[in-house]
Amino acid sequence: MNVIIIGGGASGMAAAITAARAGAAVTIFEKEDRLGRKILATGNGKCNMSNSRWDGEEYNETARAFAAKVLEKVSPGETLEFFEELGIYPREDGEGRIYPSSEQAASVLDALRFEVQRLKIEVIHEEWIKGVIPQRDGGYSVVSHVNTRRKAEKVIIACGGDAGRQYGCEGDGFALAEMVGHTVTEPVPALVGLTSKEPYFKQLKGVRAKGEVTLTAQAQSGEEEVLGTSRGEIQFGETGLSGICVFDLSGRANRAMKEEKRCTMRLDLFPDVEQAAFLEMMRRRLTLSAYKSCENFLNGLIHKKLIPVVLKQCGIDKINDKAEKITEEQMDKIAYMLKNWDVRISGSRPWNDAQTTSGGVALSEIDENTMESKLHPGLYFAGEVVDVDGRCGGYNLQWAWSSGILAGRSAAAQPKTEE
Ligand SMILES: Cc1cc2nc3c(=O)[nH]c(=O)nc-3n(C[C@H](O)[C@H](O)[C@H](O)COP(=O)(O)OP(=O)(O)OC[C@H]3O[C@@H](n4cnc5c(N)ncnc54)[C@H](O)[C@@H]3O)c2cc1C
Repeated sequence: MNVIIIGGGASGMAAAITAARAGAAVTIFEKEDRLGRKILATGNGKCNMSNSRWDGEEYNETARAFAAKVLEKVSPGETLEFFEELGIYPREDGEGRIYPSSEQAASVLDALRFEVQRLKIEVIHEEWIKGVIPQRDGGYSVVSHVNTRRKAEKVIIACGGDAGRQYGCEGDGFALAEMVGHTVTEPVPALVGLTSKEPYFKQLKGVRAKGEVTLTAQAQSGEEEVLGTSRGEIQFGETGLSGICVFDLSGRANRAMKEEKRCTMRLDLFPDVEQAAFLEMMRRRLTLSAYKSCENFLNGLIHKKLIPVVLKQCGIDKINDKAEKITEEQMDKIAYMLKNWDVRISGSRPWNDAQTTSGGVALSEIDENTMESKLHPGLYFAGEVVDVDGRCGGYNLQWAWSSGILAGRSAAAQPKTEE
């Protein structure tokens, strides 16, 4: 069996190794001058390669059943065995996130590269594939940007999405899939910071606060829907919000904005306290702090840089005035805002800052038992090019490994002969 793999990233290498081990002659076409550059950047250079915690909500809602089936075929446990065979000893942090014990993404990449070499997989660098042409007599011809043509019985499209464009992924896989008639759900950046035009962000650069964020979208008809809630560290930057809890909702925000919906992120800085109890606590606090300045009244409750912003939003400009001047109405506003701080979202950080892509090749056109195209036998998809995106925590790489191994295994399999 002759297999061409387009893209030598996480899913492409997993597919190549699996197919070669099953006896296929494998060629990888990789656009960049080396394999797997993006892997080096994952998990802040430590490669959060998987996760031990699964609650069924790791992937985009429309992909959950599909992803579950693929992960049943190639489980996270099997993936870790695949890596242990390559010498990668996994270690889990306190939150279920799995990293190589070396805590170096480079060791994951090296292990994959060495196995690619050991299996004598052909790697053609710096040639990017611009066309996959189904042949009349079966199989495919792939065409590179310098018009090299190569034929293969099976082709796996594993060239990622649009996220992290600086690592070679510029949506080529979507174009290749569309060229052969596949439907592609419009890609939008996911696991990315969201921007806001609220005037206070410039002064909040570097602030981090624990809390809960709730994303709402309002259609032009006025109808409002809650798109999701997430807890964790909210990071305030010069241009808007980031942090894992924001990243996890960013794909949904970007998709809603594409549909011309108005998105708002509501921040609750005290999610464990009910609104009424919080208000009471704040009133008591004011009674005890009446002699302090307005600024000092909030000292120790929220980050120092947040104080003038919150006070201003609640109508208090003179932060050095005595706290006793705060009116009951202003007090109620402060207590409300700290649990319901609405940030109007204006957009997203660019593709280069995104960790994954929401959207991709439609799942209804792919067989979840094999990752084979339902439109073109012998054509397979793996990784981010498919309409599956996970939340932060190692779930995207897990998807890349599992779908890559499944595609490689299926592509290398010889067709059953009729009795
Ligand atoms: C900064 C950053 C940090 C991340 N951290 C994590 C993390 O810790 N944990 C996690 O689970 N996920 C993480 N991700 C997401 C994860 O890296 C991706 O989900 C995963 O790499 C996708 O695998 P893939 O094989 O589909 O695509 P990629 O790994 O992106 O590989 C695609 C490859 O195809 C090549 N290519 C593209 N077009 C062509 C073409 N036309 N011809 C030939 N080759 C082509 C590209 O050069 C690239 O090498 C992170 C992403 C980024 C950007």
